[in-house]
Amino acid sequence: MGYTNSSLISYTQLSPNHSGQRTHSIDRITPHCVVGQLSCESICGCFTSPSREASCNYGIGTDGRISLCVEEKNRSWCSSSNANDQRAITIECASDTTEPYAMNDKVYASLINLCTDICKRYGKKKLLWFADKDKSLNYNPAADEMIITVHRWFSNKSCPGNWLYARLGDLATKVTANLGGSTSPTADNLYRVQVGAYKNKANAEAQLNRVKAAGFDTYMVQVDGMYKIQVGAYRQKANADSMMAKLKSASFDAFVTTKSGTAASSAPTKKSIDEIAREVIRGDWGNGADRKDRLTAAGYDYEAVQARVNALLG
Ligand SMILES: [Zn+2]
Repeated sequence: MGYTNSSLISYTQLSPNHSGQRTHSIDRITPHCVVGQLSCESICGCFTSPSREASCNYGIGTDGRISLCVEEKNRSWCSSSNANDQRAITIECASDTTEPYAMNDKVYASLINLCTDICKRYGKKKLLWFADKDKSLNYNPAADEMIITVHRWFSNKSCPGNWLYARLGDLATKVTANLGGSTSPTADNLYRVQVGAYKNKANAEAQLNRVKAAGFDTYMVQVDGMYKIQVGAYRQKANADSMMAKLKSASFDAFVTTKSGTAASSAPTKKSIDEIAREVIRGDWGNGADRKDRLTAAGYDYEAVQARVNALLG
């Protein structure tokens, strides 16, 4: 395979942190959250010191510009897995610093463009996302297929964060559409296995932790005012059914749904309900729907905060 680099880059600062030429042809893309709203220059800057012992092929800065840190021909040190990084293009994306490690629209649009460009240069017609570690790592891609893998499968971390994790089906669909490949179902048509829906976020988080503790790769979404705990996102209903059977045998009440929502933060709230209620009264969180949106986006339980506000105003 003749390796090239993307012409979409606007900055290059090559890192010494790599293993030299890959031992496996490129058939995976592994997007990461860099944990900071950094510029593409700063992302390269993170990886210039040899003592850091980390790197990535590309960085996408918070304004959407792309930098090259390790040439595609070389194996970067990015995903805590030699086997993965030998065959993956690794991309660090500017993100928030806490779960769900949200990325802005410019970063996401650049990620779609960069993945499209990578697939094109290596003759790939489809970018695939299975949302299933075993299936993805055991899958033998056809010559025209590229697979998405995630850092959380190789190390005890959230990377690429629940924000991007919930969009990987959408990323795969959009890139495949750009490549002129078969029109895959949209993210909303994917089959997901649901193992709980809660009005109360603390109850949802407790269930999320139980499902995680049982060894399932799970995530929380927010839809219709409910927090829903889901596992997987499958194009084939049979795969969702098989995951449902696994969850049931682990004593979870599970069913298959095509409905999902936006990724919800499962990070512990940093301030007490009382502190936040006082900030609300002070006017820090705006009013009405704006207040509700901002509190919810920051990971607070709006109903609980509002109840405390009402109590304080007594
Ligand atoms: Zn990562």
